[in-house]
This record gives sequence, C-alpha cells and structure tokens, in this order.
Amino acid sequence: MEKFQGKSVFGGIAIGKIKVYGNIDSTVKRYHIKDVDSEINRFEDAKNKAKLQLKDLYDKAVVNVGKDNAAIFEVHQMMLEDLDYIESVFHIISSQKINVEYAVACTSDNFSRMFSEMEDEYMRERAADVKDISNRVINILLGINENVDKKFEKFEENIVDNSDAVIIVADDLAPSQTVQLDKKKVLSFVTRKGSANSHTAILARTMNIPALIGTDFSDDIEGMPAIVDGYEGILIIEPDEKTIKKYKNMQAKAREKKRLLLELKGKPTVTLDGKEIMLYANIGSVADVMSAMSNDAEGIGLFRSEFLYLESNDYPTVDEQFNAYKTVAENMAGKRVIIRTLDIGADKKADYFNIEPEENPALGYRAIRICLDRVEIFKTQLRAIYMASAFGKISVMFPMITSVSEVKRIKEIIDEVKEELDNASISYGDVEIGIMIETPAAVMISDLLAKEVDFFSIGTNDLTQYTLAIDRQNPKLDEFYNPHHEAILRMIKMVVENGHKEGCFVGICGELAADLELTEEFVKMGVDELSVSPGMVLEVRDRIRKSGE
Ligand code: PEP
Ligand code: MG
Repeated sequence: MEKFQGKSVFGGIAIGKIKVYGNIDSTVKRYHIKDVDSEINRFEDAKNKAKLQLKDLYDKAVVNVGKDNAAIFEVHQMMLEDLDYIESVFHIISSQKINVEYAVACTSDNFSRMFSEMEDEYMRERAADVKDISNRVINILLGINENVDKKFEKFEENIVDNSDAVIIVADDLAPSQTVQLDKKKVLSFVTRKGSANSHTAILARTMNIPALIGTDFSDDIEGMPAIVDGYEGILIIEPDEKTIKKYKNMQAKAREKKRLLLELKGKPTVTLDGKEIMLYANIGSVADVMSAMSNDAEGIGLFRSEFLYLESNDYPTVDEQFNAYKTVAENMAGKRVIIRTLDIGADKKADYFNIEPEENPALGYRAIRICLDRVEIFKTQLRAIYMASAFGKISVMFPMITSVSEVKRIKEIIDEVKEELDNASISYGDVEIGIMIETPAAVMISDLLAKEVDFFSIGTNDLTQYTLAIDRQNPKLDEFYNPHHEAILRMIKMVVENGHKEGCFVGICGELAADLELTEEFVKMGVDELSVSPGMVLEVRDRIRKSGE
C-alpha cells in the first residue's frame, strides 16, 4: 500500500482501478522562415481545422454532458476568431520572421498571462481556454493531431472494454480531454498539475466526483486498485482489505453527511447562547479562494504566501504578488483576508534563496528572521500587500515572532513602505497588523505583544512542535505530537486573555482549529476566530452551532 498526498478540488471517496492517461508532448521549436505569406496560410488552415474539430466536440459534448457544459466548445470556436489573437500571431510571424507554431505558442503565453491578471473572474478563467485552443492549433500544425485522436479512441476503447469504471490519473487534463470521457466510466480524476479554477475541475464538480490536483504519484500504477480520498486529498495505491473496508464505510457516511452540511450554507456561525465566531479558511494559493467561497468561509484566516515563492523559480515580483493578493481580496469581496508574510525555511525551501544547510532548520534561519535579515525581499512583499489592500479588506500577519523588538522593527519597515507608496501616489487601505503566536516565547510575552498589534493568530502546528520539543516533520514522533496537551491548551487560554485585555481579536489557524473535539472548549476560552481548511468550514460551523449550552 502506498499513499500520495495531493490537493482536493472536489470531495468524496472513489474506489476503483487506475487508468493512466498520458498527455501528448507538443514541444514547440523556434526557427526562422523566409516566406511570411505561406506561414500565415498555414495558420489559417490549422485554425479552420481546429474550428471543425471544436464543432464536432460541441456536438458530442451536448449529448454527453448537456448543452450548458458543452458551451465551452462554442466559446473556443469564437476565441479562435478573436481579432486580437489572430493579429498577434500574424505580427509575431511577420515582425520576427519565425515559424507559426512558435508564434501561436507566444501568443498563447501572452494572452493567458493577460487573462489571468484580469479583475473579472470570468475573464481570468479564460486563461486556460486560450492555452487549450492554442495547443489544439499547434498540434494540428505539428501533425500530431491524428495521434491525439487515435490515443483518445484507444483510451475510450479501453475504458469501454473494461466493465469497471476507472480512476483517471494524468499529468494534466485539458477541458477538451475531460469532456470527451464517458462520465459513466470515470470515478475520479487525479492530476499532477492543474488548477482549482480550471474547467477540468469545474467539470469534475458538475460530474460530482472526487478530484485531486498536485498529486505526485509514481509512473507505474496503471491498472492498480486504488482509493481517492477527496476529503484529505490522498491517493492510496493497492489498499489493503482493512483500508478498503474503512473507505467503503466512509463513502456511505459521507454521502449523508454532505447532504446535511450543505443546509448550513448562508447560516450564521453562532453558538446556542448567541456567541458569534469568525469562521475563516486557510489557503495556500489564489486558486484555493474558490473552495473557501463555495464552502461559505467568512474570510481568509491564513493565506500561506510562501507558496507563491515555492511555486516560482525566482523571487516573485511585486506585480506578481500584488495580482495574487488583489485577486484574493476581490474574490472575498470585503471579507477579511489575512495574508501571512513569507514563512520560508525549515521544510519549505526554495533553491534561489540559497539558504545554507542547517543542523536544526526548524530552529533556524526561517520566516521573519529571513525577512528582517533580507529586508528588500520583505519590503517587496509588504509593498504588494499594501497595494492590494486598496481592493479589499486585507490584514497582514507575521510568522515565528519571539520578541517585541521584532514587531517594532516590522512596524518601522511597514512605515517605510507606506511612505514610499505615498511618494509614488499609490493608494492603500487600512491594514490591520497581526502576529502568529506559534512560539512559547510569544505566548509568555503575549501581554506585551498585544500592545503592539491588532490581532493574534495562534499557529498550533508550530506551537506544539516548539512547546513539546517535537520535530513536526519526523513521522516517528507522531505519537508524541499531542496538540491536546494541557500545556498547549493553557497557552491558548493565556493568549486569548492577554489579547483581549488590549483589544486584540484572537484566532487559531493551526490544524487544531478544525479539531471538533476542542471546538466547544475554544468557544469557552473566548477564541474569536477559527481558520480551517476550506473543506472543514461547514463541519466546524455545524459544531459551533451546537455549542454553548
Ligand atoms: C502553524 O504553525 O500552526 C501554522 C498555521 O503555520 P504553518 O503550519 O504554515 O507553519
Ligand atoms: Mg507555523
């Protein structure tokens, strides 16, 4: 039995056989051409063929998934006739005298980037569509379209031959690939790549099947029995009897639970005796906002911004970060979005930071220590956060705080950033400042820290690690990692009391926030906010609504 962690885009449990679906690698080469006109004719021909294919796809999709879901292929046909798109291809061919495949690939990159930076959500989602139509044209130009069709036929045949429905695993799945599959034969999608806003994910939701992205499964799993746990984002290969039994039970229970939980959407998060709790979601990327919203989160309690850095091969620019933060703030439409500044180091490493190997990285050069040492990196991020604050209700918080002087230094740097923005006439909002309480030192001086900030957010994952002296990365120590330890619970209580004395609101954003056994206790302690993974929002709301009597 082997387990692979991924990221869920739709919940549920699937039990079945794996079908690996390999994508076509259409690597595009750049070369010079002499005859611009004939290159432009090649584009026109390929574009027309692509439109015919799309028409065919539309007709098939209407039958398979209905008119509404098929509409995407009409949109794709229209996009191929977009004058800006066509002009861009023409311009790249004629100005640089280069081949059409490369011109289409460049146009695809430029347009999809442009779409992904747009304010309007609908337009942003078009980024994946531009890539999809461009890949179609490129495949036709490279003459690999026939192979694609053959591969599809073979794939469909295999699935049809196989009486059992399958779990599709793929490097990535384009909407055009997803929609062609016979939905009765697909139990789940698991991909290595993909985004939560992609049409593939949307189609998975329409099809009401669990789907995971970002799952780093091994290559040799074709035909193997497997389980997809869409709640925890886990793919289990060759599960043993005990595991299968466990998941079959879960499947049945989950069905009923889901039905009941959905009734809580739009209902207030309030205890039986009338205490309101702010129920927020933790996210690691812009794409996660979608699931925070669909699960009715009342805000974002922790945006782990370091994932923007980990996804990148170099420091993300101020504009890249600004766009990410702005998108989250706009989507949350006035609800609080707490962005945690870079918490890199320890287990979260990016090569380009050139951090020297350390004996004890969890106790080492990480998080705020790096930011206060490499101030330019920190200022770039703060600038992006403050710029985005003009577009929503953004708060900022700082990880791994151990002293008042760190907070004072942070506030000086914030003042410098604000002054620079003022000088450049760039507007920003009223940003609340908070800190993570995740070291015992911060707990013990929380009375002093509370005088410096607007809010606390207790990071129980690290607080448990540092208080109990347990490396949270070491699986051998799992049984000793006990966030229910009286020491942790007393610390939470102390932080709440000290925070409240100075008018700070106090939340919990570590995994413990979603621990339903402790919800009632947190409410009693006076915790104001709980921030949990999006899929847990409605469950925690349910628990809170039953607490307090
Ligand atoms: C924590 O430590 O509890 C926390 C929320 O931060 P992270 O898990 O990202 O370290
Ligand atoms: Mg932490």
